[in-house]
Amino acid sequence: MTSDDESDLFGYSLYGGKPPSQKHSDTSRAAADRIKKRIGPLHAEIIKFLTANPRGATDEEMQDAIPMPANTQRPRRVELTQMGRVVDSSHRKLTESKREAVVWVLLEHLDPYLAKPMEREEETPPSTNAYYDKDGNLIHDCAVCGAKNAGHGFRVSLRKGMLGMWYCDEHKGEGDGIQQA
Ligand SMILES: [Zn+2]
Repeated sequence: MTSDDESDLFGYSLYGGKPPSQKHSDTSRAAADRIKKRIGPLHAEIIKFLTANPRGATDEEMQDAIPMPANTQRPRRVELTQMGRVVDSSHRKLTESKREAVVWVLLEHLDPYLAKPMEREEETPPSTNAYYDKDGNLIHDCAVCGAKNAGHGFRVSLRKGMLGMWYCDEHKGEGDGIQQA
């Protein structure tokens, strides 16, 4: 499969998003309806995975993590999307081949997901005068006089990527109004 567009797989977009019933006979329509509604074991695996991953996953991530071959996972996920169980989160991730891929979520996870978009978690980092050198050491000199390894850091949370503003003993009062505990 070279295209990320699921309509290439089944041509569903030509049929108003519903599975095609090629001969318009009752039999083929009934078959199409069954495809649309029946949850099989493979669908259940995808639902189970997305239940455990409420922030969703791309098709590629599901294929890697479940694991499930691409030509099995994608058609089942497309069917789940047609059933309304799995929906486009509106977020995109880059695949390993640097293409944009839809992050799929369970319908029941859509609202909290949208209420807490990724952008809001990535607040503008506070200003910092610290940085990592090429060996990965945090360099934190005094922001005022440049004294090496200044001992007083403000707004530092390395876990959150906040490197902080740093001051020596003499200049710690220049800190941005936040008293050090
Ligand atoms: Zn200083």
